[in-house]
Amino acid sequence: MARYTGSSCRLCRREGCKLFLKGDRCLSSKCAITTREKSLAPGQHGADRKKIGEYGMQLREKQKAKRFYGVPEKQFHTYFNIADKKEGMSGENLLSLLERRLDNVVYRMGMAESRKEARQLVRHNHFRLNGKKANIPSIILNVGDEITVNETSKSSEKIKGLIESMQTKLTPKWLEVDKTNAVAKVAAIPARDDVDFPFEEQLIVELYSK
Ligand code: SF4
Repeated sequence: MARYTGSSCRLCRREGCKLFLKGDRCLSSKCAITTREKSLAPGQHGADRKKIGEYGMQLREKQKAKRFYGVPEKQFHTYFNIADKKEGMSGENLLSLLERRLDNVVYRMGMAESRKEARQLVRHNHFRLNGKKANIPSIILNVGDEITVNETSKSSEKIKGLIESMQTKLTPKWLEVDKTNAVAKVAAIPARDDVDFPFEEQLIVELYSK
C-alpha cells in the first residue's frame, strides 16, 4: 500500500489526539488539535464522531501507533509478528521495535524536528550506521549500534542547523548521544516507559490476535 502523502494534521484529527507529526508546530497554538473546531474528525461527518465499540478501539489504537511512527500497514503487521514471537509481552516488544527503527532513532537523538523529517534525512544518505552507508529508515537497531552523520553532509547548511538545534534537545536514556559530534549509540533496548506516548498496546495485540 502506498505511503500516505496527505495532511499530517488530518491524521491527528482522525485519531482525536496529538500525534506530534510536525515538529515545533505541534507545540504551538497553530496545532489543529488545540482548537475545538479543527479538532473534529476530518470530513463532512467529522462532528458526528460516534462512540466506538471494542473492535473500533483496537483498530484506532493500531492506526494511532502506525501513524505516530509513520509505518505502512504491511510493515507494521510484520513488526507485530516479530514482536509476538519474542519472549515477553508482545505489545511492549512491538513498541520496542518501533522505537529502534533507524528513522525514529535519528529523531530521538535530536537530529530532526519530526519522524517524517528523520525519514527524509535517512533516505537522503545523511547518516552512517556502524560506519556503513544506511539509507533505509526501517532498519532496526540493536544494542551497541552507532549512528554518525556522513562527513560530506556536515558541510550542508541544513545539517549544520540541525546539529546546532540538537544541542538543547532532551534524549532518551536508552540512547547515548554525543551532541558535539552528532553521534548516537544504542545503550539499551528501550523499555515501555521509554516510549513517549500513552499507547494502549494491549488493544493492538488483541486486534491482531483475532
Ligand atoms: Fe498533529 Fe502536529 Fe498537526 Fe497538531 S500540529 S494536529 S500535533 S501534526
